[in-house]
Amino acid sequence: MQLESTTNLLKDLKKKKKITIANDQLAALQLKRVLAFNLIPLIAFIVGIIYLWLGWVNTIDIVLLVTMYFLTVVMGITVGYHRLLSHKAFQTNTTIRAMFAILGSIAGQGPPIYWVANHRRHHEFCDKPGDPHSPHANATGELRGFAGLWHAHFGWLFDGEITNSLVFAKDLIRDPLINYINRWYIVWLILSLIIPGIIEGVLTRTWTGLISGFLWGGLIRLFFSIQSGYIINSMTHSFGTHPFDSGDCSTNNIWLSIPTGGDAWHNNHHAFPKSAKFGLKWWQIDLGYWAILSLELVGLVWNVKVTTPEMMEAKKVA
Ligand SMILES: [Zn+2]
Ligand SMILES: [Zn+2]
Repeated sequence: MQLESTTNLLKDLKKKKKITIANDQLAALQLKRVLAFNLIPLIAFIVGIIYLWLGWVNTIDIVLLVTMYFLTVVMGITVGYHRLLSHKAFQTNTTIRAMFAILGSIAGQGPPIYWVANHRRHHEFCDKPGDPHSPHANATGELRGFAGLWHAHFGWLFDGEITNSLVFAKDLIRDPLINYINRWYIVWLILSLIIPGIIEGVLTRTWTGLISGFLWGGLIRLFFSIQSGYIINSMTHSFGTHPFDSGDCSTNNIWLSIPTGGDAWHNNHHAFPKSAKFGLKWWQIDLGYWAILSLELVGLVWNVKVTTPEMMEAKKVA
């Protein structure tokens, strides 16, 4: 019954606001992008496993992989795309804003306007028809079990639905800086693959170093940074705890908190989406918030919004 009324609400909203765009050409382009951005890093990941098995991996490879991963996922995705661009949870200067948006771009999860539009739509219709990537519902109705997890993790990308950025990210379309970064998305991405190769090539003064850096700091890192986004969509709406009444199925997942830079405190986030701080207990490691806090201490970030104890008390699940 509730699902039926939500579906009707969605139909009304679709009529009024056109939350998705029906365009075959754009859908075909999106499909090609999805395939390229997932197949190439997947092949690189398999090559990486073979390299590991043959013992062809050195310390520089691992340092490049870990550094690039944390720069893109923590600084780029959770701080930049998510807390700054999607939710405006803090303010910063133009240079830092540009840096976050470029680091988010090179995570390979899509250009900033595309990502933010999908994410805001996810919040608006969370776990109901209209949510682009819920494990509990798709455009036509309820989902359960593995089918739901598959849809939220990967399947939604093949729906052919294009979120209308004019409805969900008008502010960013009107922002010349974000528009510029959005337009040159592929360039930032290619640079992020080439630069680790150059670094290792120069450090080792070998061609094999150049290839290794490209592989570990570039393509294999891209595999993990893309998967980190998919994992949030599937796992943190399925497994974990639900301490706050957020009106959806979001969960806190301790195991994913470090690799997602704090995004896995997902129920905390859905309950208080405007807060820059996702880890609400002292033991809830939130690398994204620590990065924001460090920048605030040196005056590069300001107006950082946080959840108050009263707000938490009001939404606590009894
Ligand atoms: Zn969510
Ligand atoms: Zn969010």
